[in-house]
Amino acid sequence: MNIIHFSAECYPVAKVGGLADVVGALPKYQNNSDTTSQVIMPFYDIKFTKENTFETVYTSEITLGNSTHTFSILKLKDAVLDFDVFFIDVPELVFKDYVYSFDDTDRFLAFQVAALDWMLTWETYPDIIHCHDHHMGLIPFMLQESFKYEVFRKIPNILTIHNAQYQGWFSHDKVNLIPAFNLDNIGLLDWDGTINPLAAAIKCAWRVTTVSPSYMEELKTSANGLESLLSDESAKCVGILNGIDSSVWNPETDNYLIKNFSNKNLTSGRKANKKYLCDTFNLDFNKPLFAFIGRLVGEKGSDLFPETFKNALDNQNLSILLLGSGNDAVEEQLEALKKDYEGTYNAYIGYDERLSHIIYAGADFLLMPSRVEPCGLNQMYALRYGTIPIVRSIGGLKDTVIDVSEENGFGICHDNVEVSEITTAIHRGIELYTNQPKYKKLSKQIMSIDNSWDASAKQYINLYKSIN
Ligand code: ADP
Repeated sequence: MNIIHFSAECYPVAKVGGLADVVGALPKYQNNSDTTSQVIMPFYDIKFTKENTFETVYTSEITLGNSTHTFSILKLKDAVLDFDVFFIDVPELVFKDYVYSFDDTDRFLAFQVAALDWMLTWETYPDIIHCHDHHMGLIPFMLQESFKYEVFRKIPNILTIHNAQYQGWFSHDKVNLIPAFNLDNIGLLDWDGTINPLAAAIKCAWRVTTVSPSYMEELKTSANGLESLLSDESAKCVGILNGIDSSVWNPETDNYLIKNFSNKNLTSGRKANKKYLCDTFNLDFNKPLFAFIGRLVGEKGSDLFPETFKNALDNQNLSILLLGSGNDAVEEQLEALKKDYEGTYNAYIGYDERLSHIIYAGADFLLMPSRVEPCGLNQMYALRYGTIPIVRSIGGLKDTVIDVSEENGFGICHDNVEVSEITTAIHRGIELYTNQPKYKKLSKQIMSIDNSWDASAKQYINLYKSIN
């Protein structure tokens, strides 16, 4: 079986969030003697593309409305990834020094058209086309409706929704950029009067998956306007929990760590990483260290951080370290807190892959008070590195973390995203930390929870087989 993944992100090439981790891991776990899994993604002007060399395997032109653009298909010269990735370069549109920005409609539309135009030239077509998020949402529509792609109509295609908050909306003024189709079916592109690529993909894809079973259920009542569509289409929808790439996220071999460790020497290993964090960020090693890693957006509950952190730091004995970027006002407030809480609080506002790994290994607790969490990978990384997650029970967090008060529980869960509930959860963490034998036992226990891709990758293969 030949599977092609279409995605805007893929680790380690281009990563903004969890989408990259998924597309960078799933094909690895799908590649075996029966299955070939490849990725097609945009060619951006970013660190990875600057540091690697590429060869051009195809060149042609695409037409978008009245304009024509040249495009090339590139491949890495040396095999630095565990699966094939093809890059589409549309120099005037796609090749920018960012992954996402204001011009995404034109960029991702150009990418999708170039990708399908290139596929028309292949001798054998793929058995499965797997599209990720709204950036690739016009592909299921074009496969079904655009006259020039009629030969692809029988290829089963799947949409995975990694985050339904973002839908790629654009105005009907741009409809002429989409390769010609029967205008009687224009309604397939529309949702509430605008072109909505995510909605179009939900309508046209053969199957729709989300990245956890609970998120699938939640979308029926909260999907940023698409609730009724997802309820109507629920027969073809299924939630498949993401896994983690346990070759990248392995505390025994992770090159980013200050000291590697297994569950046999976790105390000394975790201590070395915590010591580095405390030395670097001027924090007291003897206090429990609570950390947050992620985008500073409403979905992650980050607007509540300044008040919650002040509350906790004023009244409880702990340190807090934050790594993230996003909302300008939240960033400013989190920066400002530094001078008031020197020695107990610090933050790195920005993106730092290496630091994130050391935090997963060295923090005592990882905070995730998310309002929306389709799957959440951070809690799984934390578990793998022996750090206790403190999560709001929603989406994938609900599917992966059991409260310590329950049978076989190991994390700390709260129901609502409110300062008081997060503060109480932090307090429960401090109490747990005070009981060191219990804390260490849990820390060891969670390291051996298997959240790897093995089981989920099989679920995807079974889904492909069911429509092939
Ligand atoms: P989302 O995709 O909603 O941002 P996920 O939990 O699915 O959230 O995935 C987040 C991924 O991005 C994780 O690998 C996390 O470590 C990484 N990440 C997020 N923010 C940062 C940051 N500022 N620095 C380093 N890694 C980050």
